[in-house]
This record gives sequence, structure tokens and C-alpha cells, in this order.
Amino acid sequence: MTAVTDAPVLDVRAVTKTYGTGDTAVRALRGVSLTVRRGDYVAIMGASGSGKSTLMNILGCLDVPTGGGYRIDGTDVGALDERQLAILRNRKIGFVFQSFNLIPRMSALANVELPLAYGGVGAAVRRRRALAALGQVGLSDRVHHEPNELSGGQQQRVAIARALVTAPALLLADEPTGNLDTHSTADVLRILDDLSAGGRTIVLITHEDDVAAHAGRVIRLVDGEVVEDRRRTGVPGAAR
Ligand code: ADP
Ligand code: MG
Repeated sequence: MTAVTDAPVLDVRAVTKTYGTGDTAVRALRGVSLTVRRGDYVAIMGASGSGKSTLMNILGCLDVPTGGGYRIDGTDVGALDERQLAILRNRKIGFVFQSFNLIPRMSALANVELPLAYGGVGAAVRRRRALAALGQVGLSDRVHHEPNELSGGQQQRVAIARALVTAPALLLADEPTGNLDTHSTADVLRILDDLSAGGRTIVLITHEDDVAAHAGRVIRLVDGEVVEDRRRTGVPGAAR
């Protein structure tokens, strides 16, 4: 995989996605183009059904577009085979989902080590990096707990640690606070703010204005189209 170092983290060109065919076809994305630069903190907003998750799944290489194309960190995703795609996903992208998606009956530490294990990182380095990532989300005292022994907010912080542990080019979060109470939402948003201030590139999907207010840039989807792309000034993720 050839990565161009000064390339945007995401370069999306006229991406479309249609589910199904004929009369029942759903045009979930109708030609989305956008660029995300290193250090951007972007909130993708839109009503339920506007195509946010579809876009996130494509950006995260979990699904393929019907039309158009995109590059991640300079790599043309459409040109990759399954194996190369899996490697790109593992190295370049960290996911955070609304429902945490942690593996049950595995400790927080083991959950966070998992992407490194897939990436072929040795046991000692894996452990050290996973502990550091859990420390970064304030969970050093919970590393041996299993998901069902953790609150929702703590589980989502484990999920953030798991997303971060590979030092991905892009952190993708789909409604990361959607299942959390106010207090845990504030914890998660503070962590994302810190990550953004530290230069991480974040694309967060939300339908809540309070959450989007943390991002430096807001992209709004209506019926699978970008209707607004606005940078805010005075926040860390806006300037680059
Ligand atoms: P959002 O995340 O903004 O709520 P989605 O991307 O989940 O929106 O959905 C966009 C549109 O695509 C909706 O009309 C939804 O019903 C449809 N859709 C999403 N996933 C599928 C699928 N796997 N099969 C058929 N239609 C789908
Ligand atoms: Mg969704």
C-alpha cells in the first residue's frame, strides 16, 4: 500500500449507495464528496435515515459504495482486494459504535489488545500499548474488568481505547454517546476533545447539536446529500 504522507486523511468523490434494486431500491447516498484533513474534528449530522451510518460504514471500509470512490490516507480503497482492505482497516481506522461492541467475557485489557493481536503485534508490546490506551481514557483501575462489570460510559471508554490503540489515521465514531447518560456523555466528549487537541483526526456522527458543538466542522446530510459543510472558528479541530 502506497501512502502519500501529505494526502488528506479522507478524500471522498461522488460516493453513492443504493440498497436493493427496482421499485424497492433505497438511495441512501446520492453523491457525497468531502475531504477530511489531518487534525480535523468533523461532526456529520442529519436526521434518522439521512445516510449517516451508511456513510460511516463506507468510510470505515465495512461496506462498499455503489458508485464514486475514495482514498484513505492516500490509498485508493476501490483498488484493494479483501486482504489489503482488512489491513487498511486495521492500521488506519479506529471505530467507536453506539452500542460499544466489546467482546463479552473478555477483560477490558484483552478487548483493547485485540486489534493489535490481529495486526500481529507481539504480546509484551500489545500489553504495554493497551495499558497506555486504557490509561488515556482514565480506566487504569478497571483493566481486568469484563464489559458486564463496567458502566455504559466505562464500556464506551474501553471502546475508545480499543479504537486508539493502533494509532489510527482516523477515528470514526457513530453516535458514540447515543446510549449514554449525561454524565458519561460528558466524559466521552471530553476524551474526544483531548484527542482532537492532541492532533487526532476524528469523524463523529451524531444527530445532537450539543455533541456536534464539540467539533470544529459540521457536515449536514439530508436524504443522502451534503447540504452544509461549515467550519467553526475558535475550536481546536477547526484550524487545520
Ligand atoms: P442514519 O444512520 O442517518 O439513520 P442510515 O445510513 O442507517 O441512516 O440509512 C439511510 C437509508 O438507507 C435509510 O432509508 C435506511 O432505511 C436505508 N438502509 C440502511 N441500511 C440498509 C440496508 N442494509 N438495506 C436496505 N436499506 C438500508
Ligand atoms: Mg445511524
